[in-house]
Amino acid sequence: MWAQVHRTPLIARAGAAVLLLSAVTLSLLSKPAHAEIRHPTIAIAATAEGTGYWLATNHGDVHTYGAAQYHGGSPDGADDSIIAFAPTADDTGYWLASSTGQVYAYGSASDHGGAPEGYVGTISGFAAKPDGTGYWLTSATGQIYAYGSAGNHGQTPESLDAPVVGMASAPDGNGYWLVSAAGQVHAYGSAKHHGDSPDSYRGTIVDLAATPDGSGYWITSSSGQIFSYGSARHHGGAARSGSDPVTGITSTPTGEGYWQVVADHQVSPNGDARFFGTLLLDEAYDRKYPSFTGTVGAWGGHTNGRIPSSLLCRVERGDHRLRCDAATALLALDAAFREEFNETLRVTDTYRSYDGQVRTRGRWCQQRMCYKAAIPGTSNHGWGLAIDIGSGVNSFGTPQHEWMRQNAGQFGWIHPLWAQQGGSNPEPWHWEFTGTG
Ligand SMILES: [Zn+2]
Repeated sequence: MWAQVHRTPLIARAGAAVLLLSAVTLSLLSKPAHAEIRHPTIAIAATAEGTGYWLATNHGDVHTYGAAQYHGGSPDGADDSIIAFAPTADDTGYWLASSTGQVYAYGSASDHGGAPEGYVGTISGFAAKPDGTGYWLTSATGQIYAYGSAGNHGQTPESLDAPVVGMASAPDGNGYWLVSAAGQVHAYGSAKHHGDSPDSYRGTIVDLAATPDGSGYWITSSSGQIFSYGSARHHGGAARSGSDPVTGITSTPTGEGYWQVVADHQVSPNGDARFFGTLLLDEAYDRKYPSFTGTVGAWGGHTNGRIPSSLLCRVERGDHRLRCDAATALLALDAAFREEFNETLRVTDTYRSYDGQVRTRGRWCQQRMCYKAAIPGTSNHGWGLAIDIGSGVNSFGTPQHEWMRQNAGQFGWIHPLWAQQGGSNPEPWHWEFTGTG
């Protein structure tokens, strides 16, 4: 039932294969060390409304899910040194920071500087002021470097018992928290101290996330354990499969939940956090199309999956809609099908909203089969130009399927190459409208 990316299969799929091949070739030539490596995810951050999130790898690759937008990434020369990611408050940009203190700004995020001169230690944390006018870097020893309008509100805690591993801004941008690998939390400026992990704790803390109003925070260990302080409520720890460490945590906009991310790209939502997908098995594909919003199949100046329902035509009982010419063509196809088989062509899926595509993708990703669903915003279902059908067509080799292969083209409906038997993702039920002109 799940559409792949391209509407004109022969040309576009072949083109994509060539592009992919040349990209692989290029990366083999220029970055041999990275060609086969899956870079660990080091950070997660959610959109302002919690309708999506970004995952960043230590290579600086940025992956977007749900409503999160791609603004760039994979900075040259930052090989495997990226340690932090933070979006702007309005989601229109973000920063990546490296262990040498380089700060890379994308989209609307402002570059206020970085790379403290003469510094030879390890930068281990980054936080931006919510208004984006400044940011901080912290070293593993808690030394603070402030840029733009960000102030230095205190640094280098005397009692530091383990390296600083994370940092978060106070909501008003006039303070920050530092957290150590032992779970000590140090609060400066307007940031309030709400507690630390117990002295007896022997695990490794990897990150801290504050509630949006700063009245509490969570810290997470590499094994996914959560410690909650102040108003922050405990919603459970990361459910990991495998042994890779948890590397990051971020709050939902309400403060009633959080996401944790695992180095192997698993995302664990808890409380009111929602799942929007993750990389897992198709990382190379996602990297190739990190924010592909799809122009193939686009019409009317609309965005995939966000077409006003008033501009679509109903095709059956229920809420099935298509672009109106596709709906008309489907009626004609159905009439011919009925004449042959004395049965109405059963339609199981048509237009799929962006949110619907996110849900579909999420379901498959949870089974570690992301590739079964199009990346949200790329499905031709999102243009109202694809249908999934039953009535026997949904199996290869049936008389109904063969009839469709012979006749659907007259009505403007084709079976994309990728969906055909022997294609890259065989789906006998998925057909697309190419127009009758
Ligand atoms: Zn489909």
